[in-house]
Amino acid sequence: MSEFNQPISGNDLARFSGPNTYMRLPQATSLAGLDVAVLGIPMDIGTSWRSGTRFGPKQIRAESAMLRPYNMATGAAPFDSLNIADIGDLAINTFSLKDSLRIIQDSYAAILGGSAIPVAMGGDHSITLPILRAIAAKYGPVALVHVDAHADVNDEMFGEKETHGTVFRRAYEEGLIVPDKTYQIGIRGTGYSAQDFAEAQSWGFQHFPAQELWGRQLHNMGAEIRRDIGNRPVYVTYDIDSLDPAYAPGTGTPEIGGLTTPQALELIRALKGLNIVGCDLVEVSPPYDPSGNTALTAANLLYELICVLPGVTTK
Ligand code: MN
Ligand code: MN
Repeated sequence: MSEFNQPISGNDLARFSGPNTYMRLPQATSLAGLDVAVLGIPMDIGTSWRSGTRFGPKQIRAESAMLRPYNMATGAAPFDSLNIADIGDLAINTFSLKDSLRIIQDSYAAILGGSAIPVAMGGDHSITLPILRAIAAKYGPVALVHVDAHADVNDEMFGEKETHGTVFRRAYEEGLIVPDKTYQIGIRGTGYSAQDFAEAQSWGFQHFPAQELWGRQLHNMGAEIRRDIGNRPVYVTYDIDSLDPAYAPGTGTPEIGGLTTPQALELIRALKGLNIVGCDLVEVSPPYDPSGNTALTAANLLYELICVLPGVTTK
């Protein structure tokens, strides 16, 4: 028996049964003794186009039932050295975005009072602003690896300052992130103006537009980012719409010409060695994901993120 929590094996209990937790890990009611806390933030009231990400955590958990504990490509064995559990969903207020963001920030402050690294399943991308507020309160401004079709740096949307499209302008203004250690990877699509991306670059944000990544392997780019960050605390936020809609159609604001699934794996795997203090995977919208492939991909990318957290041993 391992001293660490283990996912229920598909050889012990049929994959289609058991608890709907991430990878069928134990559901923890306490943070005591946890190294990694996986949680759901089921919310879609910060989105601007298609809704449905409120169902993201439930569906990612369902598709994660097929994951096995060992990473055959990298040797990572997260459940051999870390105590990982699903701590359930945050009790957001679905009638108030503002109140929900406050609940997320307060919940993160409580989680970060312990030693567990939070790994969130969204939810739309607006969840990341209150997360970064709590992260910065603990660690100071962090480096940010932001994989997304969109830069999410609008000033406002319908006069609102806190939406899924304004997150990283607020994070910059509030000093939550180190601007020249902020990497926006996979951005593309049409703009409201020709200058949509230029202003963020003038703050220091480093941009990796999707079209510069087409047909490339991303190990080297990931390794360059890793070296540039060094041993600073870093937060990783992964918007599933960074992938091409051919790979991840179930999302709220799809943009053609995106990353491939292998590129996503290369990029995440290259981050091994960083001092990752938290991560999230956002914008999975199950109503637009009839095959389940988007949630399946999200479940796997979350697993890959867990595999590069500090303290994960390799076999
Ligand atoms: Mn986004
Ligand atoms: Mn996006």
